[in-house]
Amino acid sequence: MAFAEWIADSRVMRSPAPHTAIIGSGIIGAALAYTLARRGARVTVVDENIPANRATRGSFAWINAHQPDDAHYFALRLESMGLWRGLMQEIEGLPVRIGGALNWETPDRIEAVAKALNEGGNTARLVSKARIRAMEPALSDPPEIAIDAPLEGVADPDRIADAFLNAAAAFGAESRLGVGVEGIATANGQVIGLDTSAGRISAERVVVAAGSGTSGILAALDIALPMKAPLGLLVRTAPAPRLSQRIFTRDDLHVWQMDDGRLILGEDFGGSPVTSPQARAETETRTLDHARAAFAGVSLTFEHSTVTARPVPQDGYPAVGRVPGCDGLLVATMHSGVTLAPVMAQHLSAMILDDAEIRGLARYGIERFSKSDPS
Ligand SMILES: Cc1cc2nc3c(=O)[nH]c(=O)nc-3n(C[C@H](O)[C@H](O)[C@H](O)COP(=O)(O)OP(=O)(O)OC[C@H]3O[C@@H](n4cnc5c(N)ncnc54)[C@H](O)[C@@H]3O)c2cc1C
Repeated sequence: MAFAEWIADSRVMRSPAPHTAIIGSGIIGAALAYTLARRGARVTVVDENIPANRATRGSFAWINAHQPDDAHYFALRLESMGLWRGLMQEIEGLPVRIGGALNWETPDRIEAVAKALNEGGNTARLVSKARIRAMEPALSDPPEIAIDAPLEGVADPDRIADAFLNAAAAFGAESRLGVGVEGIATANGQVIGLDTSAGRISAERVVVAAGSGTSGILAALDIALPMKAPLGLLVRTAPAPRLSQRIFTRDDLHVWQMDDGRLILGEDFGGSPVTSPQARAETETRTLDHARAAFAGVSLTFEHSTVTARPVPQDGYPAVGRVPGCDGLLVATMHSGVTLAPVMAQHLSAMILDDAEIRGLARYGIERFSKSDPS
């Protein structure tokens, strides 16, 4: 169901709707604030810094579904991709581009991957070298074969959270920026608000969408959320002439060009070797060299790089939903948050405003980290 239809179709929310305080104005908190405010709910977003100053701003921000081995997770990503398209209709100027992706990361099993993507519902086709040349003349040495996934896209990591917050503000949401959350206030097992550097903010629901800061905030309530934080290095070039609207991913380079002409380049989705200034400089040089070779006809100049921790719950999957044992407390932290923000915002807002049970999210509940190991 399209996003606007879903909002129109949603059950009339409980009256009065609970005031929701969201910790974190990254893409997850900002998209949720918009979705709640759009439905008429009272929302306050609190962030210790400028919007999305952590993972979102340092993200490659590719909106994709490329994990066909896990059908459930794949379907969730696909659902979110559909919701992104709805949001683009709904919010004027949302900095999102669905320009497709060309992928040749796994040449030895590329046919099987393309088949699995298609079977899972992410329209994809195999394209030959000749076809790629015609599609992407700026690529100097196209691969023999690649997967063309036209439904994939990107969000501008610098602007997307602001865009959601502005759209939320038009529906009355409040943003408290530069306000650090020091603790979650509870009484009788129920959330009553946030204790912040600017004093108490009362709320009936609190959503912890603080990215890599989430586990520390929950730990103060004795709630465990083990997380990994692999560092990702991305290079930005100075603005270059328009090369493509697509994303390109191969095993040693992923790249797309922003609207202002800058390229965002990365080398590895797993984690970048940036343990010393020298290692960081070498990764920057290698990544830029790969891009220069990929687009040989274009002069690419290094502008700066970012090294950012990916907020990844220990098992790699999102941690989303109600926090058992503390009424009114919810969590929303994950990797691939750019891809998943719309679907998570939709489900969380249904939990908050409709008291809905979202069966599709049950496997991502935070309680999975506190279950004792039977072995
Ligand atoms: C290098 C890299 C590449 C990535 N590539 C992709 C990709 O291609 N596709 C994709 O879908 N995802 C990608 N991701 C993951 C994606 O960027 C994240 O999942 C997403 O940005 C998380 O958003 P968030 O809102 O949860 O967190 P964040 O953007 O980190 O926002 C959290 C906010 O919480 C605030 N905060 C924290 N603690 C407190 C506190 N105590 N008080 C007040 N405020 C607080 C912070 O200031 C911050 O603004 C990538 C991430 C990285 C780092």
